[in-house]
Amino acid sequence: MTAATAVTRGGTPWTPIYVEAIDSKVCIGCGRCFKVCPRDVLTLQDRGDDEVDDDWDDEDAKAMMVVHNAMDCIGCGACGRTCPKGCFKFVEA
Ligand code: SF4
Ligand code: SF4
Repeated sequence: MTAATAVTRGGTPWTPIYVEAIDSKVCIGCGRCFKVCPRDVLTLQDRGDDEVDDDWDDEDAKAMMVVHNAMDCIGCGACGRTCPKGCFKFVEA
């Protein structure tokens, strides 16, 4: 499939990168990505006890970010740029 191409206001082409997945094992639930997303694509979800591995060492990470509205993603990539843990995986359309 050919990647979708958009243009900046100045006419420069760029390729949107759509959120495909968030690595729940790495996410610390900081909320940075949620704050920058302009499309309400992401939501914070409580970790059940089953989600916490034996080697989990961050007591504060009781929640993780998940994708709940993937079809509204515009592919801006802001969430990935603000994530301190490199949780995001993107895909071109
Ligand atoms: S790529 Fe942009 S629109 Fe899509 S989830 Fe990330 S911040 Fe939201
Ligand atoms: S910015 Fe990264 S670490 Fe923070 S909540 Fe989002 S996915 Fe998790």
